[in-house]
Amino acid sequence: SRKWKVNPAEIQLRDGDVISQNHFNVMAGPCSIENEEQVDAVIAHLVANNVKIMRGGVYKPRSSPYSFRGLGMEGLKMWYQKAKDAGIKIITEVMQVSQVEEMYDYIDIYQVGARNTQNFNLLDELGKVDKPVMIKRGVSGTIEELLYSAEYVFSGGNEDLILCERGIRTFENMTRNTLDINAIPVLKDRSHLPVVVDPSHGIGIRKYVESVALAGIMAGADGVIYELHPDPEKAMSDGQQSLYFEESSALIHKMKQTYELR
Ligand code: PEP
Ligand code: MN
Repeated sequence: SRKWKVNPAEIQLRDGDVISQNHFNVMAGPCSIENEEQVDAVIAHLVANNVKIMRGGVYKPRSSPYSFRGLGMEGLKMWYQKAKDAGIKIITEVMQVSQVEEMYDYIDIYQVGARNTQNFNLLDELGKVDKPVMIKRGVSGTIEELLYSAEYVFSGGNEDLILCERGIRTFENMTRNTLDINAIPVLKDRSHLPVVVDPSHGIGIRKYVESVALAGIMAGADGVIYELHPDPEKAMSDGQQSLYFEESSALIHKMKQTYELR
């Protein structure tokens, strides 16, 4: 899209918040929305750290059908009420076509997960809505395939897109995925869309999340999406890669410093 979209996309959210290549964007929250206490604690943490966008899944794509699969719409409505009161925007994963409309009133950004990057029916449907969409790179997807997935939504009429590098599956098994730092400058060069890095899924191990988040920023990422939890040991999904609040506060500080250095 660089050939004809010379200026960076400016993605407008409620209350004047914008996501673009022109400033640093932070999205943080638990892997799954679990209960009211957890949502209250996370919102308080985000507000205290001036983070405007909260992530969290209510429909969870789990490798095993016996794992926790999310609170669904009831959880989203509870979360929305609390987020709205606090001025926090919501990004959450949409897994199928019927959920696009169902979720519409309660979300600010649709997240297309790595397992659905090439769910072309879903992408077509998201092309018809007037809310931003963040597309994650497929589990074994190429950079080009991610760009084509974005083209699906774009050509359907929705130009408010964010690209996300979240690691790919490689032969390496000491980490959950292999975060492809290479993808970041390539995506920035090829596209006018904001590029966000997900170090949590990219490496999958809490103590390494900070290093790869900062590396992603130095590589050119316009934002970072990461997982945190009030009590990661008790999280219902991805606790092993979720930051404690203290770690999250420290990371936010370092990310801002790193972005300034770039
Ligand atoms: C998530 O964001 O919790 C998630 C399931 O991510 P991904 O689609 O990248 O695996
Ligand atoms: Mn997760």
